[in-house]
Amino acid sequence: MQLPELSNSYAQLPERFFSRSEPKPVSEPRLIRFNRPLADELGLDAGQLTGPDGLETLVGNRFPEGLQPVALAYAGHQFGNFVPQLGDGRALLLGEVVDVNGNRRDIQLKGSGPTRFSRNGDGRAALGPVLREYVVSEAMAALGIPTTRSLAAVLTGDPVYREVRLPGAVLTRVASSHIRIGTFQYFAARRDTEALKILADYCIQRHFPHLAGEARPYGALLTAVVAAQADLVARWMLVGFIHGVMNTDNMTISGETIDYGPCAFMDAYDPSAVFSSIDRHGRYAYANQPRVATWNLARFAETLLPLMSADENEAVAEAEHVLRSFQASYETVLQRGFRRKLGLLTEADGDLQLAADFLDVLARGEADFTLGFRRLGDDLDTEEGQGTARQLFQDPGAFDAWSARWRERIASEATDSATRRATMHAVNPKFIPRNHRIEQMIQAASSGDFTPFDEILGVVTRPFEEQPGMERYAEPPRPDERVLQTFCGT
Ligand code: AMP
Ligand code: MG
Repeated sequence: MQLPELSNSYAQLPERFFSRSEPKPVSEPRLIRFNRPLADELGLDAGQLTGPDGLETLVGNRFPEGLQPVALAYAGHQFGNFVPQLGDGRALLLGEVVDVNGNRRDIQLKGSGPTRFSRNGDGRAALGPVLREYVVSEAMAALGIPTTRSLAAVLTGDPVYREVRLPGAVLTRVASSHIRIGTFQYFAARRDTEALKILADYCIQRHFPHLAGEARPYGALLTAVVAAQADLVARWMLVGFIHGVMNTDNMTISGETIDYGPCAFMDAYDPSAVFSSIDRHGRYAYANQPRVATWNLARFAETLLPLMSADENEAVAEAEHVLRSFQASYETVLQRGFRRKLGLLTEADGDLQLAADFLDVLARGEADFTLGFRRLGDDLDTEEGQGTARQLFQDPGAFDAWSARWRERIASEATDSATRRATMHAVNPKFIPRNHRIEQMIQAASSGDFTPFDEILGVVTRPFEEQPGMERYAEPPRPDERVLQTFCGT
């Protein structure tokens, strides 16, 4: 019994919420990585889970008696088109633990074999996307951004066939829950108001328990989810993260980042940046993310209308009012974030223009977003025109002009540069999981060399620290290393 504390509150919901299913055994499991600090946080026994029996559990070959694995039902808008039934086609919720902080967390196997929702898929995951999700989700957690986590990655010993033959792997994913906007859409599409109410009440109890006594609980739920997603997307924007597939089935009610498929961090700042090979029209480009989030939230609001009021006009008015709160929530987080990134400790008129102008200078200079901010902090004690930030620009003139304004602004605040640098470096990462490094890591792992995986994971999970000897992981790609497209995680 390797997962003794697992319960499964979701499996207690009505049968139409999921499909009971079991993982399909694999031939030769081999542990790639186990996340010990996360196991400790979850109160799981790392020693047992990394032993031979534990490994069999993490890959789905054996699981403790009494466990009720389920594949969750959900629907979703994929690139704007509604698909009434998606569901976990290659994932199984093993159960839940209550972590050391008292929070209920899902333990899910991803790539554990087919389920009722697999459609034509094989229910499996390839090694590359599993490692990408592991690294990027753990990097996001280290950056302080709400996200699902990665507890373990295991090779299955079985090949999966995509365009080519690839090694198969299983990821153990941990989430506050796997409930998505698409979960609500699944029941809304079936006009199953009873299920919607059960689901909404479950979400309130699990994610927003303080709302339980509200006079208008479903409007309050909408408000909370709008705020959580506004906060999330603003945080993505502040680190240059592009999710890549913001379909409504890939947006959680909890406000955690989920489903790391063709995601990427920007190198050079470009608001129109898009990497996903399947996003031909740039629907999910960097700068579109807040707009897409509001569109997705409008779809969520629609599912709640029957719960909000028997009077449809009243429900619509309430929903519209709540949806309008996205912009203010988003801007608050974004503006506070950019102030911090620029090292501004006070608020002054013109700060937002200063930040917007820096982004403009970065864009025009095709300069690296992450290093651009990081080096402002590095350069606090250097002479005007001598710093390392300006080296990021082909033509440093525009940067110098902006920098003079910025230096004047920070000089108006009484703080020593060491303190200011510390506050800037605490929000401007030095290390992000750069796309070209991830591709190189996947290439190496596919031929059995996991050294780059261990290296990049070590580096990006301490994103704000200087790490002597690891500077190459901070560098943007050379032209021949640039990754122009990322592929979906299937
Ligand atoms: P995603 O693009 O990963 O968000 O997945 C979209 C839908 O396709 C979800 O319902 C997945 O469960 C399903 N899916 C993706 N890959 C597979 C696969 N290899 N086998 C079965 N279902 C899959
Ligand atoms: Mg998905």
